[in-house]
Amino acid sequence: MLTISDIHAGADSRQILRGIDLEVRSGEIHAVMGPNGSGKSTLAHVLMGRPGYEVTRGSVTLDGVELLTLAPFERAQAGLFLTFQYPIEVPGVPLASALTESLLAAGRGTEAEAGPLGERLSDEAAQLGIPPAILARPLNVDLSGGEAKRNETLQLAILQPRFAVLDELDSGLDVDALGQVARRIERATREGDPPLGVIAITHYRRLLAELPAQRVHVLSEGRIVASGGPELAEELERTGYAAYREDGGAAAGELRGGSALGELGLGKMFPGGL
Ligand code: ADP
Ligand code: MG
Repeated sequence: MLTISDIHAGADSRQILRGIDLEVRSGEIHAVMGPNGSGKSTLAHVLMGRPGYEVTRGSVTLDGVELLTLAPFERAQAGLFLTFQYPIEVPGVPLASALTESLLAAGRGTEAEAGPLGERLSDEAAQLGIPPAILARPLNVDLSGGEAKRNETLQLAILQPRFAVLDELDSGLDVDALGQVARRIERATREGDPPLGVIAITHYRRLLAELPAQRVHVLSEGRIVASGGPELAEELERTGYAAYREDGGAAAGELRGGSALGELGLGKMFPGGL
């Protein structure tokens, strides 16, 4: 279980997250949607421990182990994984080497098993539509948007984390690539041991067609202002986020102030839904 409790965080002495609560169990898929600048990437960075962000309140635990006091690599070894919205170029380090070293550092596998990883790597790459030449190229260097996101998914498939935060994995992907990465991740939520738990940050419902979220949360101005089932994503696609902004429609007043109120407010707005 990944438990996010009352997270307040900011950067540059500016508060961005203002009390985030979220619980994700193994095998569950939660979508986090919200307008630009609402704090979605900040949440992802704070979970993984990116330098430059300050957590002023709250906790994040994975099976009871506090993550916030750990370095990013220790969070990764505890089983947390982040696919970047903008994967960072690492010149001089091929993807295959990065993955082999990651597995060794996590105490999963030995040097002698690097060979079998080669085979697993090419199998997974083929399934994700990644040409073999890319595996030998420096990590993320000069990749197209689509190649970079397939690469992120390949790393997830090989490293088999327990929880993954996907920051707009769908951005820059064509429909075919979107289907391939989403289906691969969906499979991990069924087949892993334990099955993968997912927080999928996305603007669009189309990712959720192949990666079906049981729960959808709306993040606005650093707070989760509404939570619901898959139909919430459909409503958002039709109506946009206006009702969830603090300066938005009349409903915004009802929705402000936390997810419980948000659910009530939504019930009024969409009496047939939720
Ligand atoms: P989203 O991913 O939802 O579009 P972000 O989390 O990237 O939003 O950003 C939320 C707000 O916080 C934005 O106004 C952004 O400019 C600001 N912000 C994010 N990271 C930093 C940072 N490192 N320093 C200062 N401001 C930041
Ligand atoms: Mg973002």
